[in-house]
Amino acid sequence: MSALATATDHQQAGGATVQRETSHTRILIADDSVVSRHILDATLRGWGYEVTAACDGEQAWRLLDSADPPRLAILDWMMPGMTGPEVCRMVRNRRQEPYTYIILLTSRNQKEDIVEGLDSGADDYLIKPFDQHELKVRLRAGVRILELQHQLLTARETLREQATRDYLTQVWNRSAILDLLRREIARSEREQSALGLIMADIDFFKTINDTLGHLAGDVVLQEAARTMAASLRPYDSIGRYGGEEFLIVLPNCNREQTWKQAERIRLNLNATSVAIETRSVSVSASLGCTSADHPVSSSPEEMIRAADQALYQAKRSGRNCTIYQPLPLSAPSRVSPLL
Ligand code: GH3
Ligand code: MG
Ligand code: MG
Repeated sequence: MSALATATDHQQAGGATVQRETSHTRILIADDSVVSRHILDATLRGWGYEVTAACDGEQAWRLLDSADPPRLAILDWMMPGMTGPEVCRMVRNRRQEPYTYIILLTSRNQKEDIVEGLDSGADDYLIKPFDQHELKVRLRAGVRILELQHQLLTARETLREQATRDYLTQVWNRSAILDLLRREIARSEREQSALGLIMADIDFFKTINDTLGHLAGDVVLQEAARTMAASLRPYDSIGRYGGEEFLIVLPNCNREQTWKQAERIRLNLNATSVAIETRSVSVSASLGCTSADHPVSSSPEEMIRAADQALYQAKRSGRNCTIYQPLPLSAPSRVSPLL
C-alpha cells in the first residue's frame, strides 16, 4: 500500500459511496495568529487530514527537519523567528527525499510577493482570507504531486534492486559484489582493519545439471546461496561471481577469522541436502580464501586472484575443502592457519 493517500478516498458506507478527503496525510500548519491556526486546524481536520501546528517559523522548520516530518505544509508569511519564505529556503536547501509540498498562505497579495514566495521554494500561494473550496483543491493537487513522487521513488528503488541483485539466487550480482569489495578495501585501509575474501565454487555442479536437469541445478544453486548467506554475519556480503561461483566479503576478518568463516560455510553446505522431486541431493563446495590483514593493503584484483588461486588448489586437493592464500601472493597453504 502506498505511504500516502490519494487526494480523495472513496469508501463504501452502508451501500453509498462517501467521498472524504484523505485521512492519513499529515499536514503542518504554521501561523503565529491563534485565530488563523484554529480556523485552519478545524478546517483541515474536518477534511480528514492529520494536523500538526507550529506557532512560529523556527518551530515549523524544526518539525519539517525532524525524522518523520509531515510532507505537506501550509506556512504563514510573517512569523516570529523565521518567515515562511525563509522556512521554504531551508527546506529546499536540505534537498532531502521524499519531497515536502509547501503552500504559502498570507495576506500579502502583491504580484512581487507572489513571485518572491514562489522563488523561495514554495509550490503554491494562497491569499488570506482563503476560500475553503480553493484551499481544498489546491491541497489535493499537492497530495497528487506527493503521491506521484512516492510512486517514482518506489519505481527507482525497484530498478536499483533489479540492477544489483542476481535474479536467480537473490544475492548481490557480480558488479554489485565487486563494488562492495572495492568499498570495503577502501574502508579497511582508512580504518586500518582487516578484510577477508572467500571464493566458493560448488563441486561437480555440471553433474547435477547433467543428471537432474538445469531446473534442478537452478534449485540447488538457490539453496546453496541461501545456506551460504545464512551462515554470514549481518555486515558480511555475498554475491554471485559467475555460474556456480560466489564471492564473500568479510569486513574486519583477518586470516584466522576468514578461515573459520569459510569452514563454517563449507560445513553448513555439507549439512544441507536439497529435495528434488523424490531425491535428496547433497551439495559441497570448494573454498579459496585470502585476507588483507593490516598493515597489508591490497587491490580487488589482487585479492580475487589470491582467492581464485586458493580455490584452484582446493579443487586440485580433492574438493570440499578450504585453502587459504596469504597476501601478497606466494605459495598457498593447505594447512589451517589456526594450527
Ligand atoms: P568443479 O567441481 O570442478 O567445480 O566442477 P563443476 O562441474 O562444478 O564445474 P564446471 O565449471 O565444469 O561446470 C559448471 C556448470 O555450471 C556449467 C554450467 O552449465 C553450470 N551453470 C552455470 N550457471 C548456471 C545456472 O544459472 N543454472 C544452472 N542450472 N547451471 C549453471
Ligand atoms: Mg564447480
Ligand atoms: Mg566454476
